[in-house]
Amino acid sequence: MTEAAAHRHVVIVGASLAGTRTAQSLRTLGHTGPITLIGAEAELPYDRPPLSKSLLKGEWSQASVDEIRLAGPAEFAELAVELRLGAAAVGLDTAARSVRLGDGTTVPYDVLVIATGAAARPSPWLPEGVHQLRTLDDARSIAARLALGEPVVVVGGGFIGTEIAAAARGYGCAVTIVDPVPEPMARLVGPEIAGGLVDLHRRNGTETRFGAGVVGIEGTPGELTVELDNGERLPASTVVVGIGSVPSTGWLAGSGLNLDNGVATDGFLRALGADDVYAVGDVAHWPHPGRGHGVRAEHWTNASDQARYVAEAITKGLQDAYEPTDYVWSDQYDWKVNAFGRRDPEGTSLVIGDLAENGKVAVIHATATGAACGAVTVNWVRALNQARRLLPAATPAQDIANAIQKLL
Ligand SMILES: Cc1cc2nc3c(=O)[nH]c(=O)nc-3n(C[C@H](O)[C@H](O)[C@H](O)COP(=O)(O)OP(=O)(O)OC[C@H]3O[C@@H](n4cnc5c(N)ncnc54)[C@H](O)[C@@H]3O)c2cc1C
Repeated sequence: MTEAAAHRHVVIVGASLAGTRTAQSLRTLGHTGPITLIGAEAELPYDRPPLSKSLLKGEWSQASVDEIRLAGPAEFAELAVELRLGAAAVGLDTAARSVRLGDGTTVPYDVLVIATGAAARPSPWLPEGVHQLRTLDDARSIAARLALGEPVVVVGGGFIGTEIAAAARGYGCAVTIVDPVPEPMARLVGPEIAGGLVDLHRRNGTETRFGAGVVGIEGTPGELTVELDNGERLPASTVVVGIGSVPSTGWLAGSGLNLDNGVATDGFLRALGADDVYAVGDVAHWPHPGRGHGVRAEHWTNASDQARYVAEAITKGLQDAYEPTDYVWSDQYDWKVNAFGRRDPEGTSLVIGDLAENGKVAVIHATATGAACGAVTVNWVRALNQARRLLPAATPAQDIANAIQKLL
């Protein structure tokens, strides 16, 4: 790194996983210039995955919240990172190289890292008592509702929806998951083990209404009714809507950046439309080298990896284009689901093990030519590690399956 580069002022907007990891990595990599981390939430940065897992299930205490902090005031002080929390960015002037905050002040930058992530896709149904889960405050309110033990309807059968359903069952609530897709679990884990995941939820007492859309939600908190397009009406004390997320780019309108389902970047995560601006994490829409199209990944590992990658680009200069690991996990009751790579709709999938018989399963996805391109495992860390080691070398899927078979 040149001396001038090391002294540049890096401003990071978005103080969550991607933003915090960028600041930490910059210092680890020797950046000596000022770093400012700007976050809309007044909270110190925290990790989101526990919001639908441990934190939603357990007792709330200061200790349980402290456990999910990504860094505390002492670390930020030691890293000499200026924190501006509770300060939403409302505008960007790339010509003047400055970020405008809600309080009217501006923050000049030499290098800008956009890490504003995503927000829950707004619920089209708005009665009071309909919850969504993205922030610590959301989790706190939902946990308080679940603790009542009253009926819950979860709209959306994605990872977050199904994790909320599992947490609600833990409180003894009657739970129904609604999703217009006939097999929403297949989207998460592939069709080979989706049936097992649905069974898992049903065995634990969750009702499902798959293939049924919501046409309306009415009532008052504690006495809501979810109306389905098949005419069914589901009474609920609490409704949680988890229908995906939308990138937080409103503050960038008119900035000249290319906004296309997030902040569009090149393969080096440089925002298109301005110099010295990067985007990382859930907000970044980047050209995926293996897929031939742009991707906005909404996974923890991607946010963390991209933060490290951009910190390296800032401190060492551009090297190779960003290579994703495409890894995601989910906890569903006693299932630990891990997935990485992708499933090729033109290809095939090999299944090793059986949840009922062996208590674990692995699925190796192959392209049409038989090269491995992805894997999903349930409760099987050794198979996961084996697949992870072999997959980047485009090993034939059958070879990986044979190697994993020996671990059974
Ligand atoms: C409930 C839940 C469970 C999850 N579980 C998993 C899991 O099991 N596995 C997994 O791989 N991933 C999981 N994820 C996804 C993972 O948490 C995200 O990929 C990760 O948080 C992305 O980090 P980020 O920093 O890019 O964005 P975010 O975490 O969305 O953070 C963006 C931050 O920017 C702030 N911000 C937004 N706009 C502005 C603005 N204008 N000015 C200033 N600040 C702004 C926001 O307030 C927020 O704090 C989960 C997500 C949620 C919500």
